[in-house]
Amino acid sequence: MQLYKDQSLRIHNSLTGKKEIFKPINEGHVGMYVCGPTVYSNVHLGNCRTFMSFDMIFRYFKHLGFKVRYVRNITDAGHLENDADEGEDKIAKKAKLEQIEPMEVVQRYTVDFHNTLQQFNLLPPSIEPTATGHIIEQIEIIKEILEKGLAYVANGSVYFDVVKFNENHDYGKLSGRKLEDMITNTRELTAQSEKKNPQDFALWKKAEPQHIMRWPSPWGDGFPGWHLECTAMSTKYLGETFDIHGGGMDLKFPHHECEIAQAEASTGKSPVNYWMHANMLTLNGRKMSKSTDNNIYPAEIFSGDNHILSKPYTPSVVRFFMMQAHYTSILDLSDEALQASEKGYNRLMDALDNIDTLKTGETSDFNVQAWKQKCYDAMNDDFNTPILIAQLFEGVKHINLIKENKETITQEDKDVLTSTLNAFIFDVLGIENQSLTKDDSNTLGGVVELLIDIRNEARANKDFATSDKIRDQLIVLGIQLKDGKEGTTFSVN
Ligand SMILES: [Zn+2]
Repeated sequence: MQLYKDQSLRIHNSLTGKKEIFKPINEGHVGMYVCGPTVYSNVHLGNCRTFMSFDMIFRYFKHLGFKVRYVRNITDAGHLENDADEGEDKIAKKAKLEQIEPMEVVQRYTVDFHNTLQQFNLLPPSIEPTATGHIIEQIEIIKEILEKGLAYVANGSVYFDVVKFNENHDYGKLSGRKLEDMITNTRELTAQSEKKNPQDFALWKKAEPQHIMRWPSPWGDGFPGWHLECTAMSTKYLGETFDIHGGGMDLKFPHHECEIAQAEASTGKSPVNYWMHANMLTLNGRKMSKSTDNNIYPAEIFSGDNHILSKPYTPSVVRFFMMQAHYTSILDLSDEALQASEKGYNRLMDALDNIDTLKTGETSDFNVQAWKQKCYDAMNDDFNTPILIAQLFEGVKHINLIKENKETITQEDKDVLTSTLNAFIFDVLGIENQSLTKDDSNTLGGVVELLIDIRNEARANKDFATSDKIRDQLIVLGIQLKDGKEGTTFSVN
C-alpha cells in the first residue's frame, strides 16, 4: 500500500514557522527522531501527551505506506537539574536520595515509562538508544567540533563557543532569538565561571570526585552535556541530515537550538528538514506542577485514586481526549473534559458495534468516498486530529440514520465506511476498543464474579494489596466495581 503517492501531506515546520509540503529525503521513507524522557521519575502526563502525538504521527506515516525509522532516546545521563550546565545530574541525585545505583533508577523509571506508554497503546519506536550507550560517539563529535575551532577546553570541561559559531551561522534561528539580545539580557559572568560567554554550553563536563556517573575522555574523567546525546544518536541512526525531529515545545530552547549548532559545527550541514513541536497539557487551567499539587499521574487517572477527578477513566478515553486537540495547541485536562470525551468515545464504539448489523440497499444517501477523502484531508493538513474526529462523527451520524432506516447505503459503500473508520480509529489514532460487546458479557460476567469473590476473601483477610490490585486492574480494563449494601456489583464502561 503506497497511499502516500495520492496524498500530499503538509507539516508545520517550527524552523520556518510555515506549513510545508512534506518531501522525504528518500522516496517512501521517513527518518524521525523524538527526544525521549529523562528517566529519574514516573513519566508525567504532559510527556505522555507529547509521545502520544508523535505516536499518532508515526502511525499515520505507516498508514500511508511510508517505511518509517522512528528513533526515540532514553536520557540516562548528562541531564543536569536546571536544564543548563550547573547542578547535579537528575539521575545521580535520585540515586543518592534512595541510596541505590544510578542504573537502578534508570531501570525502574524506564520500566514505568514503557508500561505507561503501553497502557496508552503507543507503538514502540524502531530504535530506542540510550545516552550512556553512546559515549564514544559523543566524544567523537566533540573532537570534530574542537578541530573546527568552535569549542574550547577549560579545566577538564569542553564548551561550545556560541559567539564564534554565530559568526558564520545563525544561533537562535529555531527559537527566534538573536544572540546579541541574549548577550545583553544576561548577567555578567561570575568570576568562577569557566565559560567565555554565558551562552556557551557544555559538550563535556569534568566529573567532580563525588560525581558517580563518569567516563574517561581525552579531557579527563567526566560526562557528556545533555544536548550532545541527541546529536550523536540521531546522526548515527538517521544520518547527518534527516527528515523530522520532534519534541515538546519546552525543548525548543536551549536543547534543540544547541542540537542544530552542534550538528552544523561538526558536519557543516543542517541536521533536520522539519522540526515539529508538541504543545503542553494543563490541568484545570493551570500549569501542571508537583510543587503546587496541581498534578496527576496516568496510574491515578486509571485507578480513580486522586483528588482531582470524580471517577476513573480508561487509557483509551484519555487517549481519545488527547487526540481531540491539535498537537500544537495547549490542551486543558479537567473532569468535565474527560467526561465529554468518554461520552464521545462510547458513541464511537457503539457505532462500530452497530455497523455490522446495518442493512444495505440499492443506493447510498451518504457520499462515502467524499467523506473518506475529507478524513485524509484533515490528517494531511498537519495531522489535524480534531478535524478528523469531527469527520469520524459525521460517519457515526450516518450509521445511526441508516440503522433507524432513515438513510440507505450500498454494500460497497458500507465496506469503505467500515474499513475507513477502523483504519483511522484503531491504526492512526491508536484508540483501543476497551468496551465489551454483548457476546463477551456472559463469560466475562462469570470471570468478574470470580474476581469479586477472591477480592472479598482478600478483604476478609485484610490483604488490601490484593483487593486493591483486583479493583485497579479491572478499572484499566474498563470494569468498575461498586461496593454496596447488597454486596459488590460491577459495570462495564
Ligand atoms: Zn533531545
